[in-house]
Amino acid sequence: MESAIKIAEIEARSILSKTQIPVADYVINPYVGCSHACLYCYARFMKRFTGHREDWGEFLDIKINAGDLVPKRGSYQGKRIFLSSVTDPYLPQERQCKLTRRILGNLLPLEPYLNILTKSDLVLRDMDLIKQFPQREIGFSFSTLDENLRRQVERRANPVEKRLNALKTVHQKGIRNYLFISPIFPFLTDWKAIIHKTRSFVDYFMFENLNVAGSVWGPVKRWIKIEHPELADLYQDIYFGQSPYWEEVEEEIRDYCQKEGLEFQIYFHH
Ligand code: SF4
Repeated sequence: MESAIKIAEIEARSILSKTQIPVADYVINPYVGCSHACLYCYARFMKRFTGHREDWGEFLDIKINAGDLVPKRGSYQGKRIFLSSVTDPYLPQERQCKLTRRILGNLLPLEPYLNILTKSDLVLRDMDLIKQFPQREIGFSFSTLDENLRRQVERRANPVEKRLNALKTVHQKGIRNYLFISPIFPFLTDWKAIIHKTRSFVDYFMFENLNVAGSVWGPVKRWIKIEHPELADLYQDIYFGQSPYWEEVEEEIRDYCQKEGLEFQIYFHH
């Protein structure tokens, strides 16, 4: 049985942060940490800034005043506000704390372009609010359709099937949606199969390669050695050798999406 994660309530000083990420002008992170505990999470660098010693995924700080920190006024109309960059706005804990829900309620009068990215169907709870934003979109990230692989790399996130159903529901409700194929695991993520299965209910696709910068390589390397030892040398070569692997994958995605007439964006790290 898994041990419980360490949860604390904190008071944040601000909630809306300017950002350099390409899809947004501002980000909102209602939580510090992320109980989804993805193996590949780049946000684990947050541990350094917050003084947490627990493993990534084993702590969560709940910003109890997050809703109250949303500005009451200001020129945010049409500005792209993204939830969330270093946590998931729909963690299981959100069911009770409703931080994201309160944030959305207070964002509404500001009329921003709302962009929500999650791995959880809990986002469906807030469709009543999300629908009221004049500009909004909801994305779900997937690294695989294979539930065994999903359990290995995103152990506490929603199963594949739940995410697929939620994407469909968002589409049926007339809200623009996107599927973020991220991260692409070399030789394991069948991105064409993901597109094939979902293209009838997805507005656009985004792609990101597995980025092992910083402290991500350690857990990825350990996992590959245990679960996919036949790939260990290939991964080593892709990340620390001269392999043109990502250039080739990027070109293949571009060609495929253009040929299929799909709307898409590529966020590859080279
Ligand atoms: S859901 Fe996103 S923020 Fe949370 S652990 Fe996974 S990759 Fe990191």
